[in-house]
Amino acid sequence: MTVDRERYNESRLLDAAYLQFDIAAEKLGLSPGFRELMKSGQREFTVRFPVRMDDGSIRIFLGFRVQHSISRGPAKGGIRFHPAVDLDGMRALAALMTWKCALMNLPYGGAKGGVCCDPRGLSPAELERVTRRFTWEIAPLIGPDQDILAPDVNTDSSTMAWVMDTYSILKGYTVPGVVTGKPLEIGGSLGREAATAQGCVFAIREAAIVSGLDLEGAAVAVQGFGKVGFHAARLMAELGARVIAVSDSRGGVMAEAGLDIHAVRVHKQETGSVEGAPEALPITNQELLELPVDILIPCAIEGQITSRNAPRIRARILAEGANGPTTPWADDILAERRVFLVPDILANGGGVTASYFEWVQNTQKLFWSEEDINKKLDSVMTRAFREVYELSRREGIHMRTAALMLAMGRVAEAKRLRGVFP
Ligand code: NAD
Repeated sequence: MTVDRERYNESRLLDAAYLQFDIAAEKLGLSPGFRELMKSGQREFTVRFPVRMDDGSIRIFLGFRVQHSISRGPAKGGIRFHPAVDLDGMRALAALMTWKCALMNLPYGGAKGGVCCDPRGLSPAELERVTRRFTWEIAPLIGPDQDILAPDVNTDSSTMAWVMDTYSILKGYTVPGVVTGKPLEIGGSLGREAATAQGCVFAIREAAIVSGLDLEGAAVAVQGFGKVGFHAARLMAELGARVIAVSDSRGGVMAEAGLDIHAVRVHKQETGSVEGAPEALPITNQELLELPVDILIPCAIEGQITSRNAPRIRARILAEGANGPTTPWADDILAERRVFLVPDILANGGGVTASYFEWVQNTQKLFWSEEDINKKLDSVMTRAFREVYELSRREGIHMRTAALMLAMGRVAEAKRLRGVFP
């Protein structure tokens, strides 16, 4: 069986996920039956639900929860609120979660969900009602042993508090383990908020070591200034790197000598965007991606680096804080240009790893210190990085293919051991 690239469309996230899957499945030598079983998701739930708006009118929202796999444990994955949320996108992102959890060697399958909406057009009260009604709709599928939710694009610890509260009301008792990334006061974990970025920075440290790059003074650009992007920029600056550019959906800013990340954050809190931050020049998202930096960290949304702009990417290390920011078509171009890629399921796997720590603390009624959590996170990230790097060198393959081969191999083995029912 050969990989047929022509079947797929680069602008479709699900096609990118399928092509990445095919490349790794081919290398692994998976049988056609196993390929089909692992490529397609296990369960898909689509919901349409009414929400009363502040002006008294009723609006119907569309939401999804896709459980790609539960072979290695409960499904696990975030929920996002975004106008581009659709079933195909959720399928792709749920599969990525399966591979990510397997790569991190966590006892989870993978899931993703979301509501198609623009949260900027909703009041806090409307957002709460959307969250609670969506939770109520998907409640039969979720739970600490079934499917555990987490924050993603445009959702945060408050969203998780509402999900947990709604689910707990339905059950009649408090169930902290149905979500991770919740506030500390109701069972959240120290270190979770920054964990995705912290894990990414641990992986960048390892990539810098094998690439012979000194992080002190290294030039860094970060796309996206949300939960992942802000902390990635902050942590890189704390390591002595020069974060020369950051951006969000409206645009970006740059300063050759390095931005004051905290000042940019204050500006964003005051104005809603990093655009126009003091002592910095304006820059577009496209320009940011093409800057001649040592390290580029996309932390926004998928499909940002494609075959169109990959020939102009000049970073030495590209660490995918976001899910799916680079298409497989761009991967080939980046590999030719010797850009060292830290693929999403590795680079942002620290988020779900810390979520796992939170879930373990919840189920065992334990509280770990932030130092303990960061130490554990460092060891999981470092081990995963080395496994992927060694396989990629040994086989002469992309870091992404190596990461997927390790992850898919573990899922295939779980499925083989469990067998086919009945
Ligand atoms: P967020 O909503 O907190 O932040 C997203 C940021 O991206 C915002 O600054 C937004 O303005 C910006 N953005 C959105 N569209 C953009 C565009 N077209 N161009 C440039 N910037 C744009 O979300 P987040 O939680 O930081 O997630 C970011 C990425 O990281 C997503 O791909 C998500 O799936 C992935 N991720 C998040 C976590 C987590 O723990 N939050 C874990 C793993 C992966």
